Amino acid sequence: MGIDLNDGQRFAGIMEHIDHHIKVVRYGTENLTVNVAIECETCGCVLVSDDNPNPPTQEEMDADREATANKERRGIDVEKLNEATRKEMNAKIDEELGTDANVYYSAYESDDEGLIRNNLLDIAVEGCVRFTYAGGWGDRKFRSPVIQSPTWLQICGIAEDAIRISGDYHHTFLEGIRPKDPEQGGAGQTVAVFELSFGS
Ligand SMILES: [Zn+2]
Repeated sequence: MGIDLNDGQRFAGIMEHIDHHIKVVRYGTENLTVNVAIECETCGCVLVSDDNPNPPTQEEMDADREATANKERRGIDVEKLNEATRKEMNAKIDEELGTDANVYYSAYESDDEGLIRNNLLDIAVEGCVRFTYAGGWGDRKFRSPVIQSPTWLQICGIAEDAIRISGDYHHTFLEGIRPKDPEQGGAGQTVAVFELSFGS
C-alpha cells in the first residue's frame, strides 16, 4: 500500500517495502510532466504521488505529443545525431586549440526537437568585444584583448586562455557569455564586455 507521509504510520508504511524495487517515475508527455510518483515495483503500487503544481496546458501537451510523433515518423535518433555533432565540434576545437586544451564547449543551442546545431563558426557577438573571467583563485582575473566579431570557435580559444590564466581547472565547460557594462575603447569606440560563463 501507499505511504502516508503525514501520519504516524509512516514507519510501518516504509517497513513494508524493505528490500523492494523502488522507482521514481513521472507521467505526462515526453517533455512535460503532469505527475511524479515513487512506486514499488515489487508490490506494484504507488507509494507517494504528487501532481505538478504548474501543470502544462492541454494545448502544450497536444503540441508536445505531436512533436514526438513527428520525430518518430521521421525516424530521428536525436541522441545519436547529437553525439555525432558533439564529436564534430570537438574535432574542430582540437584542430584549433590542440588536443591538450582544457575547455569543453557547451555553448551550443538545441532546436525544438532537441537537436544540437554546430554553431562554432557563427559570430557570437558583432563588433568590438572583450571577454573577462572573474572565476578561479586569488586575484588572477582574466581580461582578453579586444577582438572584432568573434566566432564561438574563437571564444573557445579565449576561454582556454581564461582557464590557464585563472588557474581554475575545475570549471572548464564553456556554457555561454553574459553581457556586462561596456567599456570606452582607445579610439573613442565602445567595447562590449562579456563575462565567460563556465560550469563543471
Ligand atoms: Zn513494496
